[in-house]
Amino acid sequence: MTETANPGTFDVTLRENRVFPPSRSFAEKSAYSLSDLQRLRELGARDIEGYWAEAARDLTWFQKWNRILEWQPPFSKWFVGGRINASVNCLDRHLATRPNQAALIWEGEPGECSTFTYAELHRQVENLTAGLRQLGLKAGDRVAIYMPMVPEATVAMLACARGGFTHTVVFGGFSSESLKDRINDAEAKVVITADFGWRKGGRVQLLEQVAAAASFCATLTHAVVLQREHAGQLTPQVRRSFQTRRDLSVLSSLGESKVKKVDWHELMASIDPREVSRLGRPEELDSEHPLFILYTSGTTGKPKGIVHSTGGYLVGALRSTKLVFDLKPTDVYWCTADIGWVTGHSYVVYGPLAVGATVFMYEGAPTTPENDRFWAMIERHRVSILYTAPTAIRAFMRLGDQFPQSRDLSSLRLLGTVGEPINPGAWTWYHDQIGGGRCPIVDTFWQTETGSIVISPIPAETALKPGSATRPLPGYDVEVVDRAGKLVPVGQGGYLVIRKPWPSMARTIHGDPERFKKTYFSDFENGVYFTGDGARKDADGYIWCLGRVDDVLNVAGHRLGTMEVESALVSHPKVAEAAVVGRADDIKGQGIVAFVTLKKEFSVADRDLKSVQDELRNHVVKEIGAIARPDEIRLTDGLPKTRSGKIMRRLLRELATHGKVQGDVTTLEDLNVIAALQQSSDDEG
Ligand code: ATP
Ligand code: MG
Repeated sequence: MTETANPGTFDVTLRENRVFPPSRSFAEKSAYSLSDLQRLRELGARDIEGYWAEAARDLTWFQKWNRILEWQPPFSKWFVGGRINASVNCLDRHLATRPNQAALIWEGEPGECSTFTYAELHRQVENLTAGLRQLGLKAGDRVAIYMPMVPEATVAMLACARGGFTHTVVFGGFSSESLKDRINDAEAKVVITADFGWRKGGRVQLLEQVAAAASFCATLTHAVVLQREHAGQLTPQVRRSFQTRRDLSVLSSLGESKVKKVDWHELMASIDPREVSRLGRPEELDSEHPLFILYTSGTTGKPKGIVHSTGGYLVGALRSTKLVFDLKPTDVYWCTADIGWVTGHSYVVYGPLAVGATVFMYEGAPTTPENDRFWAMIERHRVSILYTAPTAIRAFMRLGDQFPQSRDLSSLRLLGTVGEPINPGAWTWYHDQIGGGRCPIVDTFWQTETGSIVISPIPAETALKPGSATRPLPGYDVEVVDRAGKLVPVGQGGYLVIRKPWPSMARTIHGDPERFKKTYFSDFENGVYFTGDGARKDADGYIWCLGRVDDVLNVAGHRLGTMEVESALVSHPKVAEAAVVGRADDIKGQGIVAFVTLKKEFSVADRDLKSVQDELRNHVVKEIGAIARPDEIRLTDGLPKTRSGKIMRRLLRELATHGKVQGDVTTLEDLNVIAALQQSSDDEG
């Protein structure tokens, strides 16, 4: 925790007092009845281990555990002695009940569609596991996955899980530098990639990046390359069109490196079809076997390689998917996250497939070819559950209401958000414009480190308050505490902590257990996990996340959450998006600098600049009070975001303070945004 990281008392409350009652239709049809939910709440509060042991029984184990938990803070082991395989839980166990149900419906950016049943997906996965074994991989080895959002990305993850090869998915938008760092940190032996992927009508040249990285990756032996042209065609015809049983010893090298290049389909075809089941059989893995390593999004600093287990992780993913999304086989469920983020792991792949649901997946940009692409796909595939990020929702708001309005969104029954606090204005827009006023919104708080959702409404049970992720799910001991670890009074800001271990918690930071301990377990005693976020709890026990404590402002002794000033700004009709940071101020301690993007229709001519800035300043004063008056308002066309769409306030803080950016920018979405902001601060300064 840094010196500034003392949230103390937050003075401000959010301006949206409406409460939306729990959904009656969910209560009637939900897999868990209201009395079930009440029982789960009671069990979770009384006996956390008992609660999670019950949840673990929803999974298929080769061998049952003999101890639920071993806890030597900060290191936990769950379902000790149990043996399990994630791909068996996502695929094999559904084969008896729903072999012909769609597991995956996919749309590529150019518009091709395909559907894979559970039986087909299973066949592909065991085939690839067999292929990867043929390349010499053994349980415990690491594999990097650097893929576009195509069905083969899911196949690759599950094939790794099947063989016990710990995967590390690297977001396809990252450069060769970021890829190289992650491959080397994880010591991956194989990288699974594609020649390219589609994004905004252009080709993202993945293989070029892999080739550029390969010479610098000493552990890497093979690159398995999918030809994007054949993505989604998991059919026997495609398989036959490739030479069968080619001798893989005649492989070409990748670029200048010694890494051997293998064509995805040739690798698949090199396995004798009669031997696929045997050679692709699932490994019976220890519950604690590392399923994956995933690097955090880097909002606060250098990315950390978060290690997740198999058994405990799956228990968290499955239980939260069932409680929060109430997924049914009749749903078409769409989580828009890329598999490069933890949301893409837990809620595109592992959670929904463990439930046996139908997952919709889309490759490309939300505005290609037209601004209504998302809504057109919801109409076309009758999507019933949509899970996306506040940043996407604000971008859609900025484009205008006509795009969702031109499409039939009546198939939707539930909406979700994740990744950042959602400002009440965006919540309301999502609720009305996308959900037609009838769909509950699950605002889900969690982190790469938590593995699965920690705080969220359960739609059948929980009344919604826009801007709050509501209450912790059963089985989580979440509190808001002061620096000494004592509960803070209702309404006051403090540190958001989880006081007891949970099954899907991170096990360590890859190669750096000390950093793991220091980052998450050193601020409080007795194994209390610190999320890094500030929060306050209201009189109903609802948790309001206030953003990262490093971002909290301290203005003349008053603590303000950046989120609250941003919400006030975004509630102004002209504002699309805002980011607020503090800047050292001799008199006040910290001054407030706001970076604001206006809605498309309100671009400002230079001569109006001052009047718009005054208007926005006054608006914040009216909404919150004079204490929150921004000292400076900078209008900008874009904000620096991580590749996962989160605002990187640490870069804005550097800009506001020094006029330039020096910190780590490897996870930044668009370097031009920083260049433009630096340019404009040079112009002003
Ligand atoms: P890094 O840890 O590298 O800085 P990151 O924290 O952005 O990156 P993630 O694990 O993807 O990486 O994000 C988790 C964080 O996102 C949380 O700690 C919290 O700040 C924020 N967050 C996620 N969901 C919500 C939500 N529903 N409401 C408020 N904040 C959220
Ligand atoms: Mg984080």
